[in-house]
Amino acid sequence: MSKNQNKTGSYSFFNCIEKNFDKAARFISIEKGLLEQIKACNSVYRMHFPVKIGKEVKVIEAYRVQHSHHKLPCKGGIRYSMKVNQDEIMTLAALMTYKCAIVDVPFGGAKGGIKIDPQTISSENIEKITRRYTSELIKKNFIGPGIDVPAPDYGTGEKEMSWIFDTFLSLRSGDVDALACVTGKPISQGGVRGRKEATGLGVFYGIRELCHVKEEMYSVGLDVGLVGKKIIIQGLGNVGYHAASFFHESGAIIIALAEREGAIYNKKGLNVSKVFLHLKNNGSILNFPEAKNIENTEKALELECDILIPAALENVIHKNNANRIKAKIIGEAANGPITPEADEILDKKGVIIVPDIYLNAGGVTVSYFEWLKNLSHVRYGRMEKKFRENVNAEFLKVIETVCKKKISIEEKKMILRGPREIDLVRSGLEDTMINGFHKIRDIKKSLKIENMRTAAFVLSINKIIDSYEKLGIFP
Ligand code: GLU
Repeated sequence: MSKNQNKTGSYSFFNCIEKNFDKAARFISIEKGLLEQIKACNSVYRMHFPVKIGKEVKVIEAYRVQHSHHKLPCKGGIRYSMKVNQDEIMTLAALMTYKCAIVDVPFGGAKGGIKIDPQTISSENIEKITRRYTSELIKKNFIGPGIDVPAPDYGTGEKEMSWIFDTFLSLRSGDVDALACVTGKPISQGGVRGRKEATGLGVFYGIRELCHVKEEMYSVGLDVGLVGKKIIIQGLGNVGYHAASFFHESGAIIIALAEREGAIYNKKGLNVSKVFLHLKNNGSILNFPEAKNIENTEKALELECDILIPAALENVIHKNNANRIKAKIIGEAANGPITPEADEILDKKGVIIVPDIYLNAGGVTVSYFEWLKNLSHVRYGRMEKKFRENVNAEFLKVIETVCKKKISIEEKKMILRGPREIDLVRSGLEDTMINGFHKIRDIKKSLKIENMRTAAFVLSINKIIDSYEKLGIFP
């Protein structure tokens, strides 16, 4: 048994990331102690606080972990789940550090978690818990626009972010930058258009880019392009649902969708919005009229397909099922869905794994845009939209005169349009995901690295080393 394995022979989640880090460290020549500093979690705040629920006082367990301060503020979501524990939050905070570095988002990694099951607690009580958690963070200086900026994660969304902002503002009244203390807020509370679907859209952009590279596609026996690719998505939460919708719209075929209660399958393809409506109306994806049920949801991961997208929780692909996975490409929309043992098995099988620290970075990328918007106190596109429309109109006039041809009203509408906030956010996200992909691929090729995950870690660690060096912390 290696020193990283626990008594049952499996790795702790944090050790999994350390293992991935160590593989990349072989390609970096820098003193070992400095790599150890990058790996370590800088601050771990574990708290217990009382909340009155009904007539009872409940003691709530919660965490905020700041993994790295090489850039400030720290950044990362807050999850609500009964599975929350220190190891998990430390690992997810570390992933945030590497993720931000890859996509050039100037933040250190952080993560928070509250050990509750939001499905069994009323919205009123979730609000109480969220507000109390926020005030605990404020007391210890663990939140603020320049300190640490939370965001949504598993089990949280816009509502919780709104409560965090409101609590922060009430305790820091007069802080003109208070809106930037948290991202993923509703638009009316300083949120940015495009944040909700950002992680799913980033997953789509990343996989689409991979599918456009002939060399990569031929290596797994697939044709170039996304159209017609058979895709399985596990998890229909915010990330999985939006990724599924974008893949479906682009002409890929979603052959199976898996949720906690089971999966559904149709080899000809599922209509994602119809499935979502069915889920909303029935509380389950099962018994969707145009599909076959698969009672054991884990079996859906093992179906024949081109691309598998785990978009739920960690460790769903492990040493016991990795050999049965038939996908040629796995896109990690969730954080840490593949254990290190499974990673090795899949690598040997030649599966292309697009790693979480790159592929699901769309969320934090657009969080960065929201944070910038909050600090600049102006909506994207507000200053230039009309100006661009006027310039475009002049330009069209010249084209019509020179070409002696009238452009149709429909075409005119398209060309005249100045950029709205959503257009700017999406183009920033698309550019980020495309650049990130090619940077990882270039490193993989130039250093002859065996897989994308290790190459992504090399890219990320090098960037962190660079900023420490510029800070003067490293000699
Ligand atoms: N929870 C998301 C993640 O794991 C987003 C974090 C953020 O926007 O700060 O990447």
